[in-house]
Amino acid sequence: MQVQVSLTLEVSATTGLADLEEAIVTQGRQSMCRALQQAIRQWEQRQRRCPRCKNDDVRVEGTVGRRVLLVFGRVRLALRRYRCQHCLHRWCPARHLLRDLRGQQVSPGLREAAVLAGSSWPYRHATQLLERLSGAQISAEELRQLTMQQGEQQACVQQQHAEQVLNAAPNEGKGEAGVVGMDGGWTHSCEQAGGMEGKVAVVACNKQVQEPKAQPDPSQLTWYELAKRSAKGKRLGPVHQRARWMKRCYVATFAPSKALGILAEAAAREVGLDQAKSVVVADGAQWIKQEAKQHFAKATHILDWFHLWRVVRKAIRETQRDQQYPETWLTEQITEIKSWLWHGEVDQAVKRLQSWQEKGEGKALKAAVTYLQEQREWIGSYEAWRQAGYPVGSGIIERAVSLVINRRMKRRGMRWKRDNATALVTLRTDFLNADWQRHPSHRAFV
Ligand SMILES: [Zn+2]
Repeated sequence: MQVQVSLTLEVSATTGLADLEEAIVTQGRQSMCRALQQAIRQWEQRQRRCPRCKNDDVRVEGTVGRRVLLVFGRVRLALRRYRCQHCLHRWCPARHLLRDLRGQQVSPGLREAAVLAGSSWPYRHATQLLERLSGAQISAEELRQLTMQQGEQQACVQQQHAEQVLNAAPNEGKGEAGVVGMDGGWTHSCEQAGGMEGKVAVVACNKQVQEPKAQPDPSQLTWYELAKRSAKGKRLGPVHQRARWMKRCYVATFAPSKALGILAEAAAREVGLDQAKSVVVADGAQWIKQEAKQHFAKATHILDWFHLWRVVRKAIRETQRDQQYPETWLTEQITEIKSWLWHGEVDQAVKRLQSWQEKGEGKALKAAVTYLQEQREWIGSYEAWRQAGYPVGSGIIERAVSLVINRRMKRRGMRWKRDNATALVTLRTDFLNADWQRHPSHRAFV
């Protein structure tokens, strides 16, 4: 069986490439629609045997209209209805051909494209892009529903899969060293006045250190070469060694934090992380500490250095201002306390801060003392951790929150229902994880 469709183009003397391209695309899409109609018609013609009595004596008895949305546009189909002359059975053979639609209008190909677009861009924007790029004609509401449907399904599958993974025996002792980051990201909510928090975790292992390129000696360069380098923004100083975690897996949900703990532990097992050799980095939020305790008990827990230092530095600045110490005092205290904290000597730092409290207590000072006491278990020698090659800052997870939540969900006027938000972040983490399997130069999310 062969189907042939033709494409007619009007070419005038003044036609440019842009006009030709546009005309071919438009005509091409129409030809695609015709090709589908003809293919179905031909297929119908070959199905002239009664499915009930296997008699070939059948007659066409009208058609059934059906609208189908495909990647290249909207097609009206007239499906033939047959009547068996022998047993009077009536049926529509092309129904079998359209079984992939599962009673709906949108084809599997368009469904996939719609979900990808809907989880990447705002729905209206996504429909416009799809129409421009492929000719698909789908409304923003249809696209939204498809995305939500797929996301909800996927969220269920993911949660069930995670529970299965956790029920299996853990692969202890065989895994690699790695890092787990957990953090929350806020979005506006339709149901909650203050917004709601989405929880994101990223699991990474297989660290690879990229050797920096050798730097030329500045005294050997000519003025011309120096100017060229500076115009390109290249530095002459020593270049830091860069390290990348090559294997990553993201998980996210707007459900209670318990669900994230399960997803994160399952992801860690699947990428082959050995907890005893790994670290959890976080900003000290209560829910993270709880999940880390339950699901990553054997890992080392690290409080993000930048959060810690920001809180303490604020307290030192405030004390200097309130008690009118000179600037030199400020520099001395900052150097000393920073060094203590960096080396994990928390008690000494707390004692120093408490000694200031006797002379008058500021808000930031009080907050810093409480913070240090509350986060005690998560603070250790950052120097030793850094030496061991572990991250001490939560950069990796902050980037994950930005990729999974902020880029798609924190735009002007956007408000989310909790279930829909979970559906969307599930799809986004799926795409991110698939993207991470590609070669670095082919990744979309960088
Ligand atoms: Zn029959």
